[in-house]
Amino acid sequence: MRYPLLPRELGYFLAVESYDVAIIGGGPAGSTAAILLSKAGRRVIVLERDKFPRFHIGESLLPFSMQTFTRLGLQEKLRAGFLEKFGGEIAEAGGEKAAKFYFKDGFGSRTDRSYQVTRSKFDKMLLDHAAESGAEVREETLVENVDFDRDGAMLSLRRDARSRVLGRAEARLSENTRACYVVDASGRNSVIGNKFKLKKSYQHLQKLSLFAHYEGLEREEGIDATLTRMVRTLQSWFWVIPLENDRTSIGVVLEAADFKSSGLSAEEFFERAIAEQPLVRNRIGAGRRVSQVYTAADFSYRSERLAGDRWLLAGDAAGFIDPVFSSGVFLAVLAGEQAADVLHEVLDHPKRARRLFRHYERLVNRAMDVYLRFVESWYGGKEFIEVFLTPTELFQIPPAVNAVLGGNIGNRFAIRWRMELFYLIVRLQRRWTLCPRLSLMPKSDGQTAPLKPASI
Ligand SMILES: Cc1cc2nc3c(=O)[nH]c(=O)nc-3n(C[C@H](O)[C@H](O)[C@H](O)COP(=O)(O)OP(=O)(O)OC[C@H]3O[C@@H](n4cnc5c(N)ncnc54)[C@H](O)[C@@H]3O)c2cc1C
Repeated sequence: MRYPLLPRELGYFLAVESYDVAIIGGGPAGSTAAILLSKAGRRVIVLERDKFPRFHIGESLLPFSMQTFTRLGLQEKLRAGFLEKFGGEIAEAGGEKAAKFYFKDGFGSRTDRSYQVTRSKFDKMLLDHAAESGAEVREETLVENVDFDRDGAMLSLRRDARSRVLGRAEARLSENTRACYVVDASGRNSVIGNKFKLKKSYQHLQKLSLFAHYEGLEREEGIDATLTRMVRTLQSWFWVIPLENDRTSIGVVLEAADFKSSGLSAEEFFERAIAEQPLVRNRIGAGRRVSQVYTAADFSYRSERLAGDRWLLAGDAAGFIDPVFSSGVFLAVLAGEQAADVLHEVLDHPKRARRLFRHYERLVNRAMDVYLRFVESWYGGKEFIEVFLTPTELFQIPPAVNAVLGGNIGNRFAIRWRMELFYLIVRLQRRWTLCPRLSLMPKSDGQTAPLKPASI
């Protein structure tokens, strides 16, 4: 029920439910925050627009999330339901060079593995775990608006209740709920970010992605069967991610303009792009596509602020820095965990809010900065991949790069100076040939006319 014209106190009196924390969105960021706050004895509500399980992209996880998953009590569920992942491989499209990396070799490696997950199943596992931990979880409940006042927030909700008895499409029910604090974990929808116009796009990273699921691909023996494979071309890059139950996720990321100017449908473009890349095509072999071709566009942005008097932004609602290094779920889980810890303390000591919220904002921004720099270097030209694929034991740079690829965004000096050296070599490679040059062009086999190349 909604009481828009009533004084706030009367609204409470008329049975508007009240919580310590309301969480908008039941993805990895929202569920992580909900599990930890509920386990700590806080009254938490999760408001999720969709009915789970639902499709979501973001399937390759980083090992530095494992410690948080252990804290959430998820080890057994992860082991039972998903494919372990031990590292990755990056290859150049010409097929001349490729480099494998294993998480065990990363600087300060805490664990040698993470997981490849079908997100529909993974997200449902997390959300169910939040409910089991004591959170009130409401699916098919859209947060339409949030109004803040001195004591907290009023959230306007809309429930799409399908009336099976009458066979009617849907009935829309509106109601309000109150909370002392709000975690906006609504993903790219960024409910609070949009309300306060905080979202800023990275114009130089406006990419587009097409992806689908496959079955029947041959896999290597042993741990190499678990690796995320990436193929870098001149104008795009591909991922091949093995999932549980014979599924494989395959996707391509490219300049949005290249797809738009092609005049092709998503399906036609995707099939052509794969047909043109022998390394990806050969991996598919006799496998077949078993899902539609999905698209996602304009995905890199950041919110100008990540916290206000009564709110925190977590996960994609705070920002998203390109999928290339699989950092999205790692950053979402990191922010969800930090948000929960901060709010748990602030609920007992409200005077600490400003300081703790500032600390939260700094920490999450710093983590995003690490990946932003990495991503800008990746898209800055061919030099990143030329340096990356040149094996060297010099100053142990590879274990430092490997550590960042695994989610080690800590401030360890040992990693920081080696990363600076790596970026310096990439910059020098732009002027001088320190590492062998690569064309990043597949060897032509005459099977397909190439899509128009553009610069990456
Ligand atoms: C092409 C591509 C590939 C990617 N690959 C990877 C990868 O390999 N590895 C990786 O770690 N990350 C990857 N990502 C990133 C990853 O998908 C996200 O970073 C991650 O899902 C963020 O989690 P989240 O909890 O913040 O948001 P989400 O997972 O998006 O969850 C947000 C939830 O909020 C709900 N919601 C939205 N609006 C409302 C509302 N108004 N009211 C109520 N509920 C609402 C949504 O229904 C959704 O369930 C990829 C992203 C893209 C675009």
